[in-house]
Amino acid sequence: MKTQPIIKNENLKAVYQAVCRSGAISRAALAKKLRLSKPTISILADELIKGGFLRESADPGEQKSRAGRKPICLVPQTDVHRIAVAHWRSGGCWMDFVDAGTGICVERVRIGEGPDGHVDDCRLLLQLTRSTFEEACSRRSSMQKDQKESILALCIVLEGMLDPDRKRLISTPLRISWEEGGRILSETEKYFRDLCVGIFVDTACAGYGEMITQHLEERDFAYINMGDGIGASLVLHGKMLGGASGSATQFGHICVDPDGPRCRCGGYGCFEALSSEYALYERYRDRIPAGCRDAMNGLSYEDLARHSETGEEWAVLAVNETADNFSKAVRNLITLFCPELIIIGGDGTVLGERFMDRVEKNLNRLDYLFMASKVKTVLGGDTDQLVDIGAAGYMIDHYISLADPYRPGLHIG
Ligand SMILES: [Zn+2]
Repeated sequence: MKTQPIIKNENLKAVYQAVCRSGAISRAALAKKLRLSKPTISILADELIKGGFLRESADPGEQKSRAGRKPICLVPQTDVHRIAVAHWRSGGCWMDFVDAGTGICVERVRIGEGPDGHVDDCRLLLQLTRSTFEEACSRRSSMQKDQKESILALCIVLEGMLDPDRKRLISTPLRISWEEGGRILSETEKYFRDLCVGIFVDTACAGYGEMITQHLEERDFAYINMGDGIGASLVLHGKMLGGASGSATQFGHICVDPDGPRCRCGGYGCFEALSSEYALYERYRDRIPAGCRDAMNGLSYEDLARHSETGEEWAVLAVNETADNFSKAVRNLITLFCPELIIIGGDGTVLGERFMDRVEKNLNRLDYLFMASKVKTVLGGDTDQLVDIGAAGYMIDHYISLADPYRPGLHIG
């Protein structure tokens, strides 16, 4: 049974979410939307205003009433509560300080040394994250005069997979083994005793970010993150399967060619082994004209898009094959779980029209067309920004009590 404080916290969150996701809304409209009485909405809104989560503002879009006043709306308070989002990426690590309500980044700092924030030794990641967080927090607080910014939580977002039950994680791109991942999680608990910390997977956060920004709360969709590796986040009736742990699906390891090359997972012919960015150079090296072969080492989707646009044969072939492999993997996905929408995210968003047209044609050829015709495939937004918005939104929605926002704890996935 839900206790009174739980119901109150859920209602506070519902009000906060509705205001943040609409940008500005009147108390009356909020009461109608959330099916709560106007007095209840007023009590909840006043508590959120007192807590620095919301403020009142004259609605800029509305005409003045006869009495000469514009209607008052509730809007997110955007300069009080922050969430730090640490991005652990194989190409470089950084930390964004984002507004808790909107997920908009207000400052970005590098975690690793050097211009790209690259961290070679995964054992140093946590230590560097802690020192970056502490330095940035003390610098930010010394810069503030009357303003009382507060940090609600730290989210660590990584490329990999989490195992919340056994308290461990793995990341091939960051070269973190299960064992090392277990150590990182137990040290996180020690290093950040006084803080609410969440450890999440990047694909899940970006998918959650799409859900928030595209208002997909009730929909069934799949967010497919194409980059160095390939992952997916599956959302059913607005609920992300496996939460932010990335453990509900290993979409990149769907076999699309049993005779294909060996994959990093140990299998053969996985979608990731054929068409992720890490596999591209190896796969198309012999087709690239000899003169520019060396310059193409580390071939990316962006390179494919650029070279296929000018009609270079090898690049056109690579884009087509990537689209065909994507279609085969998605076909498997549709047979298991038929989403209304498939969003392509990560570096894959640059693949463009040639790729999308071919995928559409392939999917239209499916024999169970009645299912596939429901599915719309689109390109997603800016992945780093979506990760910020998704991580902050997920943290607030799942782990922060707005009635008691500073409760420390470690949350995995
Ligand atoms: Zn694999």
